[in-house]
Amino acid sequence: MKKPFALSLIAAALMVAGSVQAKEVTDADISNDAKTTGDVVHFGLGQQGQRYSTLDKINTKTVKNLVPVWSFSFGGEKQRGQESQPLVFDGKMYVTASYSRIFALDAKTGKKLWKYEHRLPEGIMPCCDVINRGAALYDNLVIFATLDAQLVALNKDTGKVVWKEKIDDYAAGYSASAAPLIVKGMVVTGVSGGEFGVEGRLEARDAKTGKLIWIRPTVEGHMGYKWENGQKTENGISGTTNATWTGDLWKTGGAATWNGATYDPETNLIFVGTGNPSPWNSHLRPGDNLFSSATVAINPDTGKIVWHYQTTPHDGWDFDGVNEFVSFDYKDPKTGKVIKAGGKADRNGFFFVIDRTNGKLINAFPFVKDITWAKGIDLASGRPIYVDENRPGNPAAGEDGKKGKTVFAAPSFLGGKNQMQMAYNPKTGLFYVPANEWGMDIWNEPVSYKRGAAYLGAGFTIKALHDDYIGALRAVDPVAGKIVWENKNFAPLWGGVLTTAGNLSFYGTPEGYLKALDAKTGKEVWSFQTGSGVVAPPVTWEEGGEQYVAVVSGWGGAVPLWGGDVARRVNFLEQGGSVWVFKLHNGK
Ligand code: CA
Ligand code: CA
Repeated sequence: MKKPFALSLIAAALMVAGSVQAKEVTDADISNDAKTTGDVVHFGLGQQGQRYSTLDKINTKTVKNLVPVWSFSFGGEKQRGQESQPLVFDGKMYVTASYSRIFALDAKTGKKLWKYEHRLPEGIMPCCDVINRGAALYDNLVIFATLDAQLVALNKDTGKVVWKEKIDDYAAGYSASAAPLIVKGMVVTGVSGGEFGVEGRLEARDAKTGKLIWIRPTVEGHMGYKWENGQKTENGISGTTNATWTGDLWKTGGAATWNGATYDPETNLIFVGTGNPSPWNSHLRPGDNLFSSATVAINPDTGKIVWHYQTTPHDGWDFDGVNEFVSFDYKDPKTGKVIKAGGKADRNGFFFVIDRTNGKLINAFPFVKDITWAKGIDLASGRPIYVDENRPGNPAAGEDGKKGKTVFAAPSFLGGKNQMQMAYNPKTGLFYVPANEWGMDIWNEPVSYKRGAAYLGAGFTIKALHDDYIGALRAVDPVAGKIVWENKNFAPLWGGVLTTAGNLSFYGTPEGYLKALDAKTGKEVWSFQTGSGVVAPPVTWEEGGEQYVAVVSGWGGAVPLWGGDVARRVNFLEQGGSVWVFKLHNGK
């Protein structure tokens, strides 16, 4: 009698040990991510997306001792653009890779724990390389979006698929590559496909089950939906049908939400950037074309739009306004009052400071040197002061009706800033913006919508503006409205930034370097050659009293595919696919 009893006790103890062995990611872990230095549980190092760490063991004095600890290859023949931000939790790193792959690694040693390779169908249509920008963690799940427009949730400890949901039809041009946002137990994702006339929208699902909670379209005229007790119910039209779009064009209006979203718990708002209105040829769609090329603030509890701010109304240059909206507070220099603001370095070349409680423009100023499409942003109306003759001409006005007047426009459609995420350092009060100086010849052509076909109505060639550089990491003072310093780079910058309390800003270059700059002066204090171009944002965390830095390396993304003259200029860069981890030599 005694023996079985003892055995069952041991068995019970083992079962308990088994069930508590792996920690689960809670809502508190997500909310506190920016403050907890032992993990990185969310894209942006926190939902607000500041990409700031309070860690300072690695600082301007010690960074010279920063050395690699391990590197891991994503393997295979799939060495294409790697734009992913790693997540770190409970001693494990979760990192996505090209072709919709995800790896779990031991964060200390780089040992592979498991991998998942999503089976992609023939005929996917990602516009801008087969990239992925990162995963989300919630409960016992790691969740990521795939190039065939699905969401996959895996058990984070075993790599087994727990749920899989289709966002939309890849054959119609939909894809997904942004890191999901986690808000209040929901996984929030957008869609890619602005070059194919998709219906831009944000979707919220129960993170544990994948079941839809709400859909909010970002093209004015579309109905939103909410699910209650499994019932799909109408949740109000986005805006007013045909108020800013003529005819039926809103039905294929684009405004793809392809670069993800941020969330601010103080205002309880999700901020999502929206891409170009479709097609690119703006003469086909008179009006502002809401809610394209904008930041849209959505209440996560209702799925409704609370405010919107359009950075490029009636966009005619593919100035996707998808750039991240990063919450920050500052003291008004005149009144001393704390202003709850948000910063956005827009693809159109202007840096916007917006009151995040109501969407009102506070300030807007250029963060690139050449802007041809607008003289500035009128602070009273919040609208651009267009230079009308620098909009590509209407093909219908030309002699043969086939090609409109070509204009030279700066920035190019690849933008003053593109997908690469900026960082905000509350200690310096500065944003660190990976900026690019380039322009394009652009012209319009007639086009009509065909499901699954490119829907541009435009031609273009991208050109560098200077011989010696295209990229520049710029420190932007959002209150003074000026650039404080810059560090130039020959190739266009395409990777995000990390900034720390150690007075450092880390970022990568297509030439392969991970660099650390003095956050106050912009002086380079450290660099390391990763073996391929860096187009991803670095992260940092601490374990066992030591601070670690990680970045993914692998050249690719939109530049080699769309870059015209610039693509030729940087065609010496080699592809790759690996993650690098660093710490201080001997911990000092
Ligand atoms: Ca954290
Ligand atoms: Ca676009």
